[in-house]
Amino acid sequence: MKAAVLQELNSPLVVENVDFQGPQAGEVLVKVAATGVCHSCYHAVTGNLSVPLPAVLGDEGAGVVEEVGEGVTLVRPGDHVILSWAPSCGNCVYCIQGYPAVCLMASRIPRGFMADGTTRYRVNGEPVYHFANISSFGEYTVIAEESAIPIGKDIPLDKAALVGCSVTTGVCAVTNTARVRPGSSVAVFGVGGIGLNVVQGAVLSGAEKIIAIDLLDAKLEMAKRLGATHTINAAAGDPVPEVHALTDGLGAEYAFEAIGTKTTYEQTVRAIRSRGMAVWIGAPPREPLSIDAGVVFWGEKTIMGSNYGSARPRHDMPRLLALYKSGRLKLDELVTRTYRLEQINEAFDDMLRGKVARGVIRF
Ligand code: ZN
Repeated sequence: MKAAVLQELNSPLVVENVDFQGPQAGEVLVKVAATGVCHSCYHAVTGNLSVPLPAVLGDEGAGVVEEVGEGVTLVRPGDHVILSWAPSCGNCVYCIQGYPAVCLMASRIPRGFMADGTTRYRVNGEPVYHFANISSFGEYTVIAEESAIPIGKDIPLDKAALVGCSVTTGVCAVTNTARVRPGSSVAVFGVGGIGLNVVQGAVLSGAEKIIAIDLLDAKLEMAKRLGATHTINAAAGDPVPEVHALTDGLGAEYAFEAIGTKTTYEQTVRAIRSRGMAVWIGAPPREPLSIDAGVVFWGEKTIMGSNYGSARPRHDMPRLLALYKSGRLKLDELVTRTYRLEQINEAFDDMLRGKVARGVIRF
């Protein structure tokens, strides 16, 4: 198959022929229909997210089940599926409470491998590693059956692909992690692929004030179209005083970080009022943070991490698609441009320049 491979850090991806092995017990072979181009992959390119190389990248996709391995019961050939990058066991202490994003089994899968510690990809006989459990930048992918989330055949797969990462991560951070209540004030730091969906989640939750913050006016315009009530261009300086000015001088009730920098992680804690909640969604920065413990203590503030929006993929993804069908969740509007796999590096450039809400590769 053709797949986009990251061979070494800080280099362009190379589209090449990759040999793949069929699904083993508990695994599924999926013919990928479409994959979103996500910033998480770029974190792998820069090394901010460390993964064994060479690897087939891609962490947001959808496709059709082609073949299933021994013992697979959750899907069968022909099923349309979203690829979930967070397979979970369903039985551990966290899964049984409804928190599969922190599944104990999943946390033990070594990065770059299938659960059994081997890979299904090779080039010239040498192993090529998996990425984010789904490696969606290839014509085919071999995944754990728990990563294949069945959906209706009436949903276009290039739209469903977005629900595999950015939509679920953003919307469910609001509905599941933070449980934002109607009438709330919400600040969103960074309105790229994830942040725009935080805006959508805030609209769905009935937030009264939705303040979008970014460095690029084009992205702030997109945020407005999706329901942001106020925008702040942070290029001029610290946006936190303006967030306070827009929220009766108190700060927002919720602030979501959707970029992954030390500065914005810290800003969310200052942007919220007493009893408010800062929710960290962006890939964690490597440097230690500098946070005033006093403002958290005296103000009884909450800081929450949000991994995959605290989503339960088999439950939440079909619900998100139902909201799309009823017109209440916008997916068509998120896809600014589509590409061929060979244009993957151009798609990264467009994402980094803020030219697209989401770029999608169609196979
Ligand atoms: Zn589990």
